[in-house]
Amino acid sequence: MFLCFMAIKRKNEITPDELAIERIEECICTLNDGPKTPQLERVERVITLLGKLTGDASDREKLRVFTELLHVLGQYKWSSYIAPYGDGWTVVNNIADHTHLTKADLWEHEAVRDLLAAFPRLGVGERPFIRRCESPKCQRWFIAPRKDKGACSDACKQWLYDNRSPEQRASKALYMKNLRRGAKALRERQDERTGFTKGKRRVVSRKYR
Ligand SMILES: [Zn+2]
Repeated sequence: MFLCFMAIKRKNEITPDELAIERIEECICTLNDGPKTPQLERVERVITLLGKLTGDASDREKLRVFTELLHVLGQYKWSSYIAPYGDGWTVVNNIADHTHLTKADLWEHEAVRDLLAAFPRLGVGERPFIRRCESPKCQRWFIAPRKDKGACSDACKQWLYDNRSPEQRASKALYMKNLRRGAKALRERQDERTGFTKGKRRVVSRKYR
């Protein structure tokens, strides 16, 4: 959905954070398929830490994550300036001392810069937009278009479904029961408002036979 939306937009209408998301998609391919380098692991660490800043995390956990992010992000140096963009302006964060960096370090800096540029779109504080597949056999990074999407593919979704714990099965059964109960109550309220009863419906249908 999000990608289709991006595709129909003209290039000059795409905002810098949307462009950053596009580049993050490429970065995720590298995270999944590239060799495990220290640079790659540090980028994974930043994404993991951002994902831990959820609303239900304890204050102690938030402080721990916040402190680690302060340390991790403090390693990157930027020189920022304002540049024209579309009809307005945007902030550009250039990598400071980029001539002294190796290719791998440059990739890491660019990945972190994109994560920071796309920050408002990463779902930080809620359920993160960039996630690891919940299937323990997979664990690939993916971009989740929906909040409740936990698997990267249909195959992983099926695996998670087939391997649900008894607690997950019970919780889902309760959810479905409440959903059916809510739908039935709504139907009854609507029938009451419109004056229909099951008996009356039968009378009406007989009349037109
Ligand atoms: Zn998966």
